[in-house]
Amino acid sequence: MTFPRLRFGLAANRLHHESPDAALFKWLERSGPGVRELGMELRAVGRTYHAIEHSGLLAGYRGLLRYPYGRDGGLMKLVAHIPQRPDGEPALDGAIYLIDPVDPSSIFPEALALKRQCVTHGKPFISTLAGAVEWVEVERLHAGLGPSAAARGVFDFSAQTVALIAHDALKDQMVDFADSHFELLSRFASRVGTGTTSGRLNAMAWARGWPRERPWVRPYLSGPLGGDAQIAELVLEGRCQRVIFFEDPHVARQHEADIQLLERAVRVVTATATCATSPAVAHKWARAVELLA
Ligand code: PGA
Repeated sequence: MTFPRLRFGLAANRLHHESPDAALFKWLERSGPGVRELGMELRAVGRTYHAIEHSGLLAGYRGLLRYPYGRDGGLMKLVAHIPQRPDGEPALDGAIYLIDPVDPSSIFPEALALKRQCVTHGKPFISTLAGAVEWVEVERLHAGLGPSAAARGVFDFSAQTVALIAHDALKDQMVDFADSHFELLSRFASRVGTGTTSGRLNAMAWARGWPRERPWVRPYLSGPLGGDAQIAELVLEGRCQRVIFFEDPHVARQHEADIQLLERAVRVVTATATCATSPAVAHKWARAVELLA
């Protein structure tokens, strides 16, 4: 089979490629066969590229390409290749950046810009091991390939909690997303959300006939009042495994620190938590899961 070629930027902070059991290698052990099946092009920044070469996990694979070292602007080039390109070269379809939240380079401007450009253009920005394993499976399912053994269990939500959060300009899109994928989201053991978003989602669920006496989404405080931080704690404690956060990249956010805190919390528990940051990415994920039903 041939598929439309997918192109992903790839980088990993030092923690995630410095030892044989680091996240980058765990990802390739599980998802390497899927990457090869899809013919997915991986454009890896210098040290990440060399770590993969050295591991032999993609030996002989021609879709692994090298970008410059971080210090020579490799990550900056990835950022520039997320939007449509003026030279007509195809843009990247997304970025996998395995982040160690206590590595200072993870908050360099190019790291923040990489995420922001992905959010702006509705492309996946994947920052955790669990997210990277899952996304290759999402792409496989969309390509018409059957479920892979390597991803067994990743879509079993029956013991999981999902957090649903949207900034004001995206709240209508969050309600629309939840309404469109109501059965899927109802498969989670529970749902949590920031205050205002939860209110909107519960109104939608009740209008659909969800029992009045129990909210569909358990509300925490509004984001600016501490709700993002409260949900971050659930993530850190393994009580919430998935964050679907429709971020508005076009406004200054007075609680930017809280937003970053929540995303960093997801990266602390990289093997078990994921974060989706735009409606396009969340819909694509949900449609893939629904293909399995
Ligand atoms: P809200 O919070 O759902 O209470 O609006 C979302 C946020 O801004 O983090």
